[in-house]
Amino acid sequence: MLTRRTTLGLAVLALAVPRPGAAQAAAGPLSLPPLGYAADANEPHIDAMTMTIHHGRHHAAYVANANALLREHPQVAAMNVPDMLARLSELPETIRTGIRNNVGGHANHTMFWQIMGGKGGEPSGELAAAIARDLGGMEKFRADFNAAGLRVFGSGWVFVTVGRDGRLALAARPNQDTPLADGARVLMGNDVWEHAYYLKYQNRRGDYLAAWWNVLDWQAIAARYAAARAGTLGV
Ligand code: MN
Repeated sequence: MLTRRTTLGLAVLALAVPRPGAAQAAAGPLSLPPLGYAADANEPHIDAMTMTIHHGRHHAAYVANANALLREHPQVAAMNVPDMLARLSELPETIRTGIRNNVGGHANHTMFWQIMGGKGGEPSGELAAAIARDLGGMEKFRADFNAAGLRVFGSGWVFVTVGRDGRLALAARPNQDTPLADGARVLMGNDVWEHAYYLKYQNRRGDYLAAWWNVLDWQAIAARYAAARAGTLGV
């Protein structure tokens, strides 16, 4: 029979011994993807300090928070990330908000790092044709996308979604919500949380939105377009 004294003793012992959860935090089930380029690769448009903090602290926190939930729910951890978000209503009620925010944040940022580190410019081929057909061409696309980013009140994202038929559309979401939750696929998106731009741009979100196009990697975005059409694009 446990007395109060032995219960306290066990509690102290539990604090002294490294918890299994601490070791598993690094092991997943989700992991922080490395940046595919140096932290200063997007200078001068996005500064290295912002990249380092954004990737190494903000995104890392979404991964750690998601893993803490997923380790307690192995049946959810077994799902792929798009399914976790698209089938949120089927998950245990107690973890829905945490999964929505943290797995959503992980998905959004994983996409975000992929499509940057480039030199801007314009897409070519099928993707350029789709932008002309569905978004009115690059000039109108940039203007409409930036306007949608400016309209997000508070924190959120502006995305381009791509259907299995290759059709493109703009979509804005608050917080870490994502079109993945609606079963759509994301071609590209820009993070308009203040943490994405405040060190360099402070309150000038419009300047950040305009400058962001200079760091896009259109080859990476074209690869996402092809994968989305093939049904093989994850997040
Ligand atoms: Mn962010």
